Amino acid sequence: MKNLKAVDPQIYKLVKEEEKRQEDVLEMIPSENYASKAVLEVLGSVLNNKYSEGYPKKRYYQGNTLIDDIEILAQERAKKLFGVPHVNVQPYSGSPANTAVYFALLEPFKSKILGLSLAFGGHLTHGSPVSFSGKYFKIIPYNLDKNGLINYDEVEKLALKERPNIIVCGATAYPRIIDFKRFGEIADKVEAYLLADVSHIAGLIIGGTHPSPIPYVHIVMTTTHKTLRGPRGAMIMVTEKGLKKDPELAGKIDKAVFPGLQGGPHDNQTAAIAVSLLEASKLEFKKYSEQVVKNAKVLAEELTKSRFNLVSGGTDNHLLLIDLANKKINGALAAYALEVAGIVVNKNAVPNDPMPPFYPSGIRLGTPAITTRGIKEKEMVQIAKWINDVINEISSEVLPLDKAKRSEFWKDFKKRVEKNKKLLEIKEEVKTLCSKFSLP
Ligand SMILES: *Cc1c(COP(=O)(O)O)cnc(C)c1O
Repeated sequence: MKNLKAVDPQIYKLVKEEEKRQEDVLEMIPSENYASKAVLEVLGSVLNNKYSEGYPKKRYYQGNTLIDDIEILAQERAKKLFGVPHVNVQPYSGSPANTAVYFALLEPFKSKILGLSLAFGGHLTHGSPVSFSGKYFKIIPYNLDKNGLINYDEVEKLALKERPNIIVCGATAYPRIIDFKRFGEIADKVEAYLLADVSHIAGLIIGGTHPSPIPYVHIVMTTTHKTLRGPRGAMIMVTEKGLKKDPELAGKIDKAVFPGLQGGPHDNQTAAIAVSLLEASKLEFKKYSEQVVKNAKVLAEELTKSRFNLVSGGTDNHLLLIDLANKKINGALAAYALEVAGIVVNKNAVPNDPMPPFYPSGIRLGTPAITTRGIKEKEMVQIAKWINDVINEISSEVLPLDKAKRSEFWKDFKKRVEKNKKLLEIKEEVKTLCSKFSLP
């Protein structure tokens, strides 16, 4: 990055420091990953300079012959890999992609969306009242049962009662297999569109470690930067079943993305999606996907041995949701202390969480990024031990229930934790482990 260094030493320095941070910590936020060097190279290429509103062969700007080739390659690779007849690779990211699906199929203030509520692991765009999706559409939220599982009978009852226009299945914090077939049956019964938002698990679907929604749903949306390990971005796919329900579906989706919602596509991002789809078609990626799940299972087993309470009792995929109530430690405090020790996770609400979202009772952690580095079962045992040690180390810390006292407590807590000897020791051990597993 010699040019950046010369032009803007401040940003250069911050990027280099961030690079070092990413190398030195165990990145266990389940939505994050390390894209390959090839993906990063094409993101930083001259493709950034082009404008190409429209779609291949139907552009509103000149000079797009090569961009057409690139976008067609991305489309063809996605269609082949997922087994769908139509894909749109232009959405800027997951939230605008879901917005485009709603824009294509729903009427504002009238249509109903049935989606998993945010507090139970759904995404903001699945109808949270703080998101546009909850403000512009009628939302029918469904929750998880007391074991932290989707109750499909309840979803069906709700669908029959409310007759939603679209059902969204998929989540940001659900550690179990999603039964897309059952969702398909429910949607068919009430003649709703069914959108599978597989942002978190797309890489597992491609790798064969999570069942595919394609035969059962009408539309699939996925981000491209999570388990799929590509650039930030998203794709909307239309299935055979979707075209059968609505022969106009592909055109409606495309029109909603452009010109409905977006202007020019990010061609560097499109090319990077194409590269990551090629990478995901290799045997190596299948092995990666299998290792992601194996690592998560070992982590779940080890943490359970140390009396951690895993929501749903374990995991089938890349992530774990831990309810820390029995450990008497708040999720926000735990996440902070873990970061001091070099283990980066996020605080997260657990089902029926009595705490507010900024101070939830749990943490969410996953294995996609550390598995990309080459970490396997043996290291997972050690990582579980570190996590247990960190939580034990801060076990006497109690977040005040009184809101007014919280900010002062928080300040002192940070100070205490930042100079905790044990945590700093673990941080060094984590760094040593990380030094053996380089980033792509
Ligand atoms: C991450 C995610 C999104 C949104 O992706 P952004 O790129 O952050 O907008 C949408 N749905 C689900 C289920 C996600 O996990």
